[in-house]
Amino acid sequence: MRLVLVGPPGAGKGTQAEVIAARLAVPKISTGDIFRANVGQATPLGLRAKVYMDAGELVPDAVTNDMVADRLSQPDAAHGFLLDGYPRNLGQAEVLNENLENAGAALDAVVELVVDVENVIERLLSRGQGRTDDTEDVIRHRLEVYASETQPLVGYYRERGLLQSVDGLGAVDDVTSRILEALKV
Ligand code: ADP
Repeated sequence: MRLVLVGPPGAGKGTQAEVIAARLAVPKISTGDIFRANVGQATPLGLRAKVYMDAGELVPDAVTNDMVADRLSQPDAAHGFLLDGYPRNLGQAEVLNENLENAGAALDAVVELVVDVENVIERLLSRGQGRTDDTEDVIRHRLEVYASETQPLVGYYRERGLLQSVDGLGAVDDVTSRILEALKV
């Protein structure tokens, strides 16, 4: 299965991505995790991305698209993957489409985790994972960026018959069950 998981910061995307990917035996590809790993190792990519991440801005598409294309070309992603945090705007969605098409592949489904915005601010502030982008100002900005840049993907994928919207509220296990049910797996 080739899946995309979308949802605002703090929706529990990362947690669900982990569980669902394991369940479907596909690699979980999280752009945020890849960027953070690069920041941690102070690679050129990490140094470039950090400025944007700390400000709650999207890392430029050229950087992100190349990074994901490279990851998707690895053998473990040949027969399926779960993308967490990518695409995050319409331009990235178009590039992903093209890259998959060129490889003779296509997405099977896009899962949108639906949550209440005020809840997610609480959740992120209390998460305390020491992420430098988890201050209230930056969280609010990430939510604005989500609304303006990422939310349009919901309509985009709905039109293409790929969208499954799932209630992201409640216990982790319950949300996982809803996702698996929506995917009919
Ligand atoms: P969250 O969903 O909580 O904002 P992520 O770990 O998905 O957290 O992303 C953290 C940061 O990494 C984003 O704010 C952004 O700067 C960068 N990032 C992650 N994915 C992308 C992407 N697809 N395009 C551009 N920037 C991205």
